[in-house]
Amino acid sequence: MKRIVVVGANGNMGRTVVKMIAQKQDFELVGAVDVTGVGEDIHQILGLDAPTIRIDKDLPSLLEAVKPDLVIDFTTPEVALDNIQVVVEQGIDMIVGTTGISKEELIEIRKSSQGQNSIIMAPNFAIGAVLMMQFAKKAVKFMKDVEIIELHHNHKAESPSGTAVKTAELIGEVLSEDKDDAEEIEKISGVRGGEMNGVNIHSVRLPGFVSHQEVIFGGLGQTLTMRFDSISRESFMPGLELAINRIDEIEGVVYGVENLIDI
Ligand code: NAP
Repeated sequence: MKRIVVVGANGNMGRTVVKMIAQKQDFELVGAVDVTGVGEDIHQILGLDAPTIRIDKDLPSLLEAVKPDLVIDFTTPEVALDNIQVVVEQGIDMIVGTTGISKEELIEIRKSSQGQNSIIMAPNFAIGAVLMMQFAKKAVKFMKDVEIIELHHNHKAESPSGTAVKTAELIGEVLSEDKDDAEEIEKISGVRGGEMNGVNIHSVRLPGFVSHQEVIFGGLGQTLTMRFDSISRESFMPGLELAINRIDEIEGVVYGVENLIDI
């Protein structure tokens, strides 16, 4: 039985994670942390027939009290960095779903705290998104002109998305610098998006979207478009479940679900 604390439990992702845990015989929710709904029973909020778990606002004292096997964080980058520090210091395994934190930041915290725990961080737990990123890395060997358009709901805090950053990182591992684009004149600042590793990234924020991304490659007389759509937050749960089940097997920090599956 994996005893789990969810941080950001009353947020959109946190609630979905709490529902998933309640459906699994091998997982048990032993604590919920959030700044909203403090003192309320998260299972009751979600209409679940499960033991009372009151939302707590203080992660360190909750960890001391319940001693979980695993902490799952879906909050905000600033909050998650503090949480990682706390969890690492207590030597508890952690899964970080919160985006906007770099792998380097994570490794640094773990090193400075002489952390002994295992951490899985993934900007996107949806298997389809993981495949899209890996396919994009393969395609850029043959089509070096590429741009990313990521589309998310209008409540998403940071831009670009962690998935877009990770995609650009993977493409950057392969992309050579010899692009032959014309010199650009931007008549509206930012209209060509932001650039990372030679890849332009465009962020769209609109109500109605969940999490979507297109990677568009251009070549002589041809384009190739890869598109991934998350149409509900349940899409992230199989990958998260995989990470929970595999965390005992890993050591140190694993960044990305692709490292947990054989693509
Ligand atoms: P959300 O609905 O805003 O949920 C975040 C929750 O954390 C909110 O309930 C928020 O409360 C709470 N929170 C804020 N400060 C806190 C603190 N100090 N301690 C504990 N909880 C705190 O956002 P979301 O849509 O669930 O997304 C959460 C994160 O997951 C984002 O970084 C998002 O990009 C990421 N995400 C990752 C994946 C993936 O596959 N890795 C998929 C989807 C989303 P308030 O609302 O009161 O501030």
